[in-house]
This record gives sequence, C-alpha cells and structure tokens, in this order.
Amino acid sequence: MASKYDYDLFVIGAGSGGVRAARLAAMTGARVGVAEEYRVGGTCVIRGCVPKKFMVYASEFSHQVKTARGFGWTVQEPTFDWPTFLQAKDIEIARLSGIYVTNLQKAGADLLHGRAVLKDTHTVEILGDHARMVTAEKILIATGGRPTYPADLPGIEHAISSDEAFHLDHLPESILIVGGGYIAVEFAGIYAGLGSKVTLLYRGANVLRGFDDDIRAHLEREMERRGITVVLGCQHDSLEKTDAGIVSTLNNGMKFTSEQVMFATGREPYVKGLGLETAGVELNERGAIKVDKFSKTSVDNIWAVGDVTDRINLTPVAIREGAAFAETEFRNNPTTFDHDMVATAVFSQPPIGTVGMGEAEARKAYGPIDVYRAVFRPMKVTFYGGEERSLMKLLVRQDTQQVVGVHVVGPDSPEMIQMAAIAVKMGVTKQQWDSTCAVHPTAAEELVTMREKYVPAELG
Ligand code: FAD
Ligand code: NDP
Repeated sequence: MASKYDYDLFVIGAGSGGVRAARLAAMTGARVGVAEEYRVGGTCVIRGCVPKKFMVYASEFSHQVKTARGFGWTVQEPTFDWPTFLQAKDIEIARLSGIYVTNLQKAGADLLHGRAVLKDTHTVEILGDHARMVTAEKILIATGGRPTYPADLPGIEHAISSDEAFHLDHLPESILIVGGGYIAVEFAGIYAGLGSKVTLLYRGANVLRGFDDDIRAHLEREMERRGITVVLGCQHDSLEKTDAGIVSTLNNGMKFTSEQVMFATGREPYVKGLGLETAGVELNERGAIKVDKFSKTSVDNIWAVGDVTDRINLTPVAIREGAAFAETEFRNNPTTFDHDMVATAVFSQPPIGTVGMGEAEARKAYGPIDVYRAVFRPMKVTFYGGEERSLMKLLVRQDTQQVVGVHVVGPDSPEMIQMAAIAVKMGVTKQQWDSTCAVHPTAAEELVTMREKYVPAELG
C-alpha cells in the first residue's frame, strides 16, 4: 500500500549525524529527504574538525622549520601567506562538501536546500527560495550546535567565534582567545603557529576542565613554551573598540589590547525556531533535545542525533548515533551506540589523546588506582636541542588491574590513542597491556614499557 507521506524519513540537517542516517536509510530503499539550510557536511566539514585540522597543519610548519635547522637544514626565514592558505582550504572544503552531496544522491536521498521547521509531528516546512511543505512518516533532527558567548557582556559584538576564525580577511597581529575548552586551546596553537601574538584567557584554575589534571598542567606549560601567554582565573568586564585595537577590561582590573578577540566559550544545541514546541518535542534541562538510548525523542515518530542532543559532542559520535538510528528503524535491527570509553583528541600544540577517566575521576569511581606515568623529551626533540616534553599516563584499577584511563600529550598522540582505545574498550588489564611488545624507536613504546608505579614526590 502506498504511504500517505511524501517520505519514509525526513532528516533536518546535513551534518555528520544527519548525512550518515539519511544515506544508510536510503540505501535500504526507503524514500528519504534531507534539508540543509547552509552547506552540506555540517559543522565538521565546513567550520569544524576539517578546516581546523588544515589550520593546525598550516601552523605546525613554523615549528618544523625551527626543528629542521637542528637537523642540518639551512632554512631562510619563512613567511606565511594567509590568503593563499584560505583559498586552498576553501577549495578543499568545497570538494569535500561536494562528495557529501554526491554520496547522498547516489544513495537515492533528495536534498532540499533551505531552513526546515516542524509544523506538526509529520509535517516540515522548508523556507527560502525552494519553499514547500513535506510530510514524512519518520523525522530525524540533526541540527547540531552553534557557538555561545555571554550575550550581556558590554562590547561582545566586537568579538568573533570559531565560525569567523576560519575566514578572517587577514591574519591578526594579536589575538585574545577566551575560554579553556577544546576550541580555545586548539585555536591558540593555530594562531601562535601562524605568527600571531596569542593570549589565552580562562576563568578557571587551568585549561581543559574535565581532563586529567596532569594533562591540563602539562599542556598549559607546553603552550607557554610555544610563546602563548596563558592568563588564568579572570574574565571580561567589557570590550571596547578603539583605534589601537579591541580593549578588554578584565574583572581583576587588567586591561588588554589586541587586534582580535575570539570567544570560544562553548556551544549550545541548535534548537531555536525549529518548531519543537509545535511538534511536542521536549528539551532537557541543558536545552538539548531529550532522547532515549535509541535516540527517540518524546514524540514517537521523531528522533534526534548528534550535538543537538548534547551527549558527547564529537563527529564520530554523531555518525554512530545516526547509524544506530538507521539500523534500528530501517533494518529492523535494534541498535544503540555505547557512549562509554569514547576516545578523543585535542589538536592543541602539542596535541592530546585521551581515553577513559582522569586520575581524580577514576579514584572517585574505583578507590585505589595504580598510576604509571612518563614525562620525557622525545628523541627528535633531544636531537635538535629542544625543551618540549611529552607526557604519558596510564591509570589502572587496583582491584581488577583493568586499564581505565590512557592519556598522552605529545606529537602523534591522537594517532596513538585511536589504537589504545581498542584495547581499553575491550577491558584490557595491565598485565595484558604489558605483554604487548614495544615498537622501536617510537614515542608510543613508552606506553607499553611503564613498569614502575608513579608516586608523587610529596607522597614518596
Ligand atoms: P552538525 O555537523 O553541526 O550539522 C548540523 C547541520 O544542520 C548544519 O549543516 C546546519 O546548517 C544544519 N541545520 C541546522 N538547523 C537546520 C534547519 N532548521 N534546517 C536545515 N538545516 C539545519 N569533533 C571531532 O570529533 N573532532 C574534531 O576535531 C572537532 N573539531 C571541531 C572544531 C570546531 C571549531 C567545532 C565547532 C567543532 C568541532 N568538532 C569536532 C565537533 C563536531 O564538529 C560536531 O560534534 C559534529 O559536527 C556534530 O555533528 P551533527 O550532525 O550533530 O551536527
Ligand atoms: P567547551 O565546552 O569545550 O569549552 C568551553 C570553555 O569556555 C570552557 O573552558 C568554559 O569554562 C568556558 N566558558 C563557558 N562560558 C564562559 C563564560 N561565560 N565566560 C568565560 N568562559 C566561559 O567548548 P568549546 O567551544 O571549546 O567546544 C565545544 C565542543 O565542541 C567541545 O566540547 C567538543 O565536544 C567539540 N569540539 C571537539 C574538538 C575535538 O574533538 N578536537 C575540537 C573542538 C570542539 P569552564 O570550564 O569554567 O566551564
């Protein structure tokens, strides 16, 4: 019997989660429509992970040039051309976005350009040049998140967010970055590497709240070593635009002038104006769409995945939530995504790779914990006479000897942690971990050769 709806599935938002769900559902033969109001690929491809990683790559060359000299290269003083980089970045982003479009089309999904608004539980209005109404049996909301900043701060309109940081018309001579999360530390490294004078301002005691405390302290030291000024324990009273630049007045009386100010003070689920109340979709106390473990909302035929649900706001998580939804609803195979032991990387300079709990969290959860820890200068660094240090830390439950946390700060740590995460997710014990033979000469071998328990100096 023909369905009374235009689509079996309508997806709002063509980002990481929405595209994956739409493709997988369409590949089962379902009739799928997808609405996107901006550019296909979403935050990750257009103004998140991907362009950010290109900027990280670009910014790392200044450091590599310094190290090259230590290895015998004669390198003239290098210069960086921001417009050349931006142009190359935009071409690559357009190519990647195009691949997303092609993949959706190949799977047989319809792409509708425009803003989608729920009109009732089965009807979506598409606004814009191609305005129309569509109906669908099932609806998936995958609208992501967007930057937040203290809206009532005097002069906040002079600040930029990460959205603008990807295409400033020139590289700022100086930039004040506000916040201590992923985006703040990543962009501090990027702009410092590209040649801007960077100050990072964070209201707390140290950056990256929620991460292992050793990791936080180590990163802060290493950022300072790379020339980033880190100002802790204070925040803005106001911003004012002057001929000399943007003057930031801080709550400790300090004044600070910089060419740009970037607020990286978090992201919020993008739910505004989506018609959620009309359709009866409920939000949780954090303003995110409330979902169950199958990503179903409070409405029986509406689901939500990705940042708009504010579970773990990472691209691979949005993708897996979208895939689990499609598997459950279009392949008749109830599937949930397990949010435990999700590894993550911070592309600061040096970068961080981490999986599992930090030390304080692990002690709280399991009581006594064995800590294994190594701080060292990698062989590449000792060769050219550098001072940068790497940190590796392994946390082991004393009762079961299960490895419950692996934390690495140093070159290639995001690559290392992806592999370590397999073992940790499988519940590896320290004995099994130690039975793994080292790969030499690598930095990663330190991870499997830590035999002595670490006792902090004040306890030893
Ligand atoms: P999104 O990718 O945000 O997609 C949502 C889409 O919905 C957007 O395209 C939006 O335009 C569209 N949309 C919204 N409302 C409507 C509407 N009403 N109608 C039509 N379309 C609509 N994660 C990592 O794992 N690794 C990283 O290195 C990383 N780096 C990041 C760097 C930055 C600067 C930022 C901001 C984020 C980064 N993230 C990273 C997080 C990652 O980008 C997100 O977790 C991921 O994109 C979430 O996917 P999503 O599908 O939930 O939403
Ligand atoms: P985060 O939540 O990571 O960090 C926000 C920071 O802003 C925190 O340090 C917070 O301080 C601070 N802050 C919040 N409100 C204020 C305020 N009013 N005044 C001053 N400081 C404030 O958010 P990000 O924007 O950095 O990133 C958003 C999310 O995107 C990340 O959590 C992550 O899930 C994802 N992401 C992932 C990346 C990756 O995988 N590499 C890279 C970039 C983003 P406090 O700690 O005190 O609350």
